[in-house]
Amino acid sequence: MSARVDVSRSIAPQAAGYDVAAVRAAFPILTRQVHGKPLTYLDSAASAQRPQCVIDAVNDYETRHHANVHRGVHALSQEATDLFEGARDTVRQFLNARSTREIVFVRGTTEAINLVAQSYGRPRLQPGDEILITGLEHHANIVPWQMLREQTGAKLVVAPIDRTGNVSIDAIDARLSDRTRLVAVTHVSNALGTVLPIRDIVRAAHARRVPVLVDGAQAVPHEDVDVQALGCDFYAFSSHKVYGPTGVGVLYGREELLTEMPPWQGGGDMILAVTFDKTTYNSLPYKFEAGTPNISGVVGLAAALRYVEALGRPQIRSHEHQLLDYATQRLLTIPGLTIIGTAPVKAAVISFTIDGIHPHDLGTILDAEGVAIRTGHHCAMPVMDFFELPATARASFGCYSDRSDVDRLLAALAAAQKVFA
Ligand code: PMP
Repeated sequence: MSARVDVSRSIAPQAAGYDVAAVRAAFPILTRQVHGKPLTYLDSAASAQRPQCVIDAVNDYETRHHANVHRGVHALSQEATDLFEGARDTVRQFLNARSTREIVFVRGTTEAINLVAQSYGRPRLQPGDEILITGLEHHANIVPWQMLREQTGAKLVVAPIDRTGNVSIDAIDARLSDRTRLVAVTHVSNALGTVLPIRDIVRAAHARRVPVLVDGAQAVPHEDVDVQALGCDFYAFSSHKVYGPTGVGVLYGREELLTEMPPWQGGGDMILAVTFDKTTYNSLPYKFEAGTPNISGVVGLAAALRYVEALGRPQIRSHEHQLLDYATQRLLTIPGLTIIGTAPVKAAVISFTIDGIHPHDLGTILDAEGVAIRTGHHCAMPVMDFFELPATARASFGCYSDRSDVDRLLAALAAAQKVFA
C-alpha cells in the first residue's frame, strides 16, 4: 500500500542500549567496498554474513582440531567429537529442546524437510491423506510434499494468504480435516516477512492430533524460538541464515516421533552393527546422520548461536523492528513504490515494487551503488502468482543492519528512478 508519510515526525529513536556500531565492527565483510562504494548489505534473508567469532571458530577447528568424529580413539578425533557434540548441546539450549537426541544435524532447512517427508510421511501416508501447507511457503516446503504426493497418493491442501500476505489461523483451522496427517508451515515468510502464529496453529492441529512441522529458516535469526513453548513436533533451520556457515542446518524433532521414524539415508555412523543379512541402526540422533557430517560447519553454527545469545535475542528483535519501521516509512515516501506484504506481524524483510522499473533492473542499478538487495521470486513462486507479479525487490535486515543502510538504499532507489524517468 503506497502512502506518503511525514518521516521526520513519526520515526521512533533507534533501540536504546543496542550498540549497532559495535555489532557491525564484528562483521569484517561490512568494511568491504563494492564497485568502489561502501557495501550496503540488505540480503540477509538469502544468507546472513558471519561475525569474526564464527570465522575464528571454524578456523581454529580447521587449524588445530580436525579429524573425523565418533570413530577415533586418538586425541584429535576426540577433540573434534567433543566440539561436534558440544555444538549439539548449544543448539539444544538455543531451541530449548528437551534432549540432544532431538537435534539432528543436516545440510540445511531443505534437507530437514525432505527428511521428514521421506521418513515421517512416506511410510505413513495413504492415498487421500492430506498435508496442509500455506500459500506463503518457500519451495523447500512445497516440493518435498509434492514428491511425497507422487509417492503415496496423498493430497496437498493449501491455506490461502490474504491481500496483506497473512494466513489467518481461521484459514488454517478451516482446512484441517479428518484426513490431515501433517501441517507444514513457515514461521516467517522469506518473500514477505509475515510472521505466522505458530502457537495457535499448533494448538489447532494438535486438537485434531495432527503433528506440525515448522520451517524456521527465516525465524531463527529474528524470533525467540523455543520449541517447547511453540509445541511444534518438527522445527527446521539453516545455519547460514543465522550468521553461521553454509551447508549445515538442524532438524529438531520430538523424541517420540523421531524414535518411531525409520532412517532416511543409510551408511556409516547411523549403524550399531552391520552384517550382510541385517543392520541394527544407531540410537537418536545418529540414526539420521549417515556419513561424515559437516564438522567445521557445526562448530561454526554453535559459535553463531552463542554470538546471537550474547547479543540477546530480544535486543536484536527490538533493533530490527525499529529498523523495519524506519525502512517501511522511508520507502513509502518514494512515489510509485508499493510494499508487497503488509501483514500485521512482520519480521525484518520488505518486498516492494516500483512503477516502471523491473525488479531485476532495479537490482542491477542498486548493485552499482554498492547496495545488495535480492530481486526475483524468492523461491516462493506461488506468492508471486498470488500478487500477480513476476518478481519483487526485497531488502532484508540482520543484527548488523542500521539506518545508514536504509538511507543508502533510499539514495540508490532515487538514482534508479532518475535513470528510468
Ligand atoms: N525456507 C525458507 C523460508 C527460506 O527462506 C529458505 C532459504 N531461502 C529455505 C526454506 C531453504 O533454506 P536452505 O536453502 O538453507 O535449505
